[in-house]
Amino acid sequence: MEEKYQEILEKIKKADSILIGASNGLAISEGYNIFADDSSFQEHFGEFRQKYGFRNILQGAFYSYPSEEERWAFFSRMYAYFVNNKEASPVMKNLYELVKDKNYFVVTSNTDSHFALAGFQKERLFEIEGNIRYLQCSDGCLNRIYKGNEILSKMEQEQENGKVPSNLIPKCPECGCPMQVHVEVDRSFLRGEVWQASFQAYKDFIEKAHGKRLVVLEFGIGARNQLIKAPLMKLTSVEENASYITFNRGSELYIPDAIASKSIAVDGDIAEVIEHLMQLKQA
Ligand SMILES: [Zn+2]
Repeated sequence: MEEKYQEILEKIKKADSILIGASNGLAISEGYNIFADDSSFQEHFGEFRQKYGFRNILQGAFYSYPSEEERWAFFSRMYAYFVNNKEASPVMKNLYELVKDKNYFVVTSNTDSHFALAGFQKERLFEIEGNIRYLQCSDGCLNRIYKGNEILSKMEQEQENGKVPSNLIPKCPECGCPMQVHVEVDRSFLRGEVWQASFQAYKDFIEKAHGKRLVVLEFGIGARNQLIKAPLMKLTSVEENASYITFNRGSELYIPDAIASKSIAVDGDIAEVIEHLMQLKQA
C-alpha cells in the first residue's frame, strides 16, 4: 500500500498537467451525502423531511413545492448547509495542498462550491452541473447567472414555518420571472456564457496537455458515470503519457482493461487516503 502511495506522489510531482474529476463520492467523504437520510440530513432538513416526506437532499432538490416561498425555504437552507459561513473541509484542504503548485484543472458535477472554498481558482474549475451560490432566470431569458450569496443567506435566516418572506423572493431583473439556483435540477438549467467559458477552459486545458505528462485524479465517481468518468478514461486511453488514478470504495472502483496498464486504483475512504498522501508528501 505504501508503495502505491509513493508512486502516486511521484506521478503528481512529475506531472505537467493534473486533471481532477470529482463527483458525489468526494462530497460523501467530506460528510455531505445528498442521497442519504442520515443524521446530518435530519438535523439540517428535519422540518422539510417531516412536511414533504422526502428522505434526502436530492429528493428535496427535485421536489415540486406548492409555492415559491416554500421552494426558496428549501434551496436557501441547502445553500447554507453547503456554503454559508463554512470553512473548507479537511478533505478539500488536503486535496488543494496536494495540487496547488501544479498546473491543475477540475471538472466536477458537485454543485456545493467546495473546490472554490478550499482555494481552487475559479478559472480552473468546470462545474458541469452548476453551483448553489448562483441564480438564474427560470425562463433563461438571458444567458446570465447572478451571485446569490446575499439573498440566499437572507432567505435562510428569515425563513419561518418553512416559508421565506414573499418580499425576498428573487425575480429575474430582466423579465420578472421567478429565479432558481444555478444547479441542474431541471431542463431550465442554463448553459450560458459563464458555463461555456468554463467548458472552453476545460477543453483548452486538455488540448495543452496533449503529449505531455498528464495525470488524471478521479475522486468518487460512480463506475458507470458517462458525464465525467467516461470522457476522462477515454482521454487517458488516447493520451500516450497519461496516467489515471481513481479513488473510490470497493464496487465503485473501476478501471477498464484498455487503460489498466496506465492506471492505479485506490480503494478506501477518500478522506483518509488524501490525508495519508499529504502526510507522506510532507514527510
Ligand atoms: Zn428572465
